[in-house]
Amino acid sequence: MRLLLVEDEERLARAVRRVLESERYQVDHADNGADAVTMGQQSDYDVIVLDVMLPIMTGIQVCRVLRESGVKTPILMLTALGEVEDKVAGLDVGADDYLVKPFAFDELLARLRALLRRRPEVSQETSLIVADLELDLTKHRAMRGDIEVELTATEFRLLELLMRHVGQVVSRVRILERVWGYTYDGQASVVDTYVHYLRAKIEPEGAAPLIRTVRGVGYTMMEG
Ligand code: CA
Repeated sequence: MRLLLVEDEERLARAVRRVLESERYQVDHADNGADAVTMGQQSDYDVIVLDVMLPIMTGIQVCRVLRESGVKTPILMLTALGEVEDKVAGLDVGADDYLVKPFAFDELLARLRALLRRRPEVSQETSLIVADLELDLTKHRAMRGDIEVELTATEFRLLELLMRHVGQVVSRVRILERVWGYTYDGQASVVDTYVHYLRAKIEPEGAAPLIRTVRGVGYTMMEG
């Protein structure tokens, strides 16, 4: 589960991050409103934890900009004790829930679980199917027709990303962020290399091609 944590208090951010990572969330952190907008727009997070009082832009402004630009990721606002107006303003601009500081980490985790449960594609989906290719998300297994395809963890995440966006162009930058992580700073050509590996596995001789190269941009999983 990928989570964007937007919090400028360094100690709190560190502590929250530690707790979330121990619960197997993959956490990216922003410490100001402008970075939060950029990261929230560029990446597909499963959930965003957003503090209200932030440098550059407030959490309320961040939330409004994200919603106006079509980002539907569930947002949990962190508001200061007693600031009822913040709570109301946050919900008005499209936040899904709020938590009053100081909060217990267990409550944070419970609220996040509740938010994620509301997204059917996160909790209920067990497999993705495109043409005769099936990706079993619980068993971590791929089948092309009747043939099982062995994938590495990286290949699996890459294939899952493409299959989740079937018919859409997924840019190299987005693939890098999603599969290799926001902090990856190596060569972007690693994406091309891995798509090559993946094609060799899911498009054996005689099988119809499924991944199309969009020159200069990225890749598309074809609808079959
Ligand atoms: Ca703050």
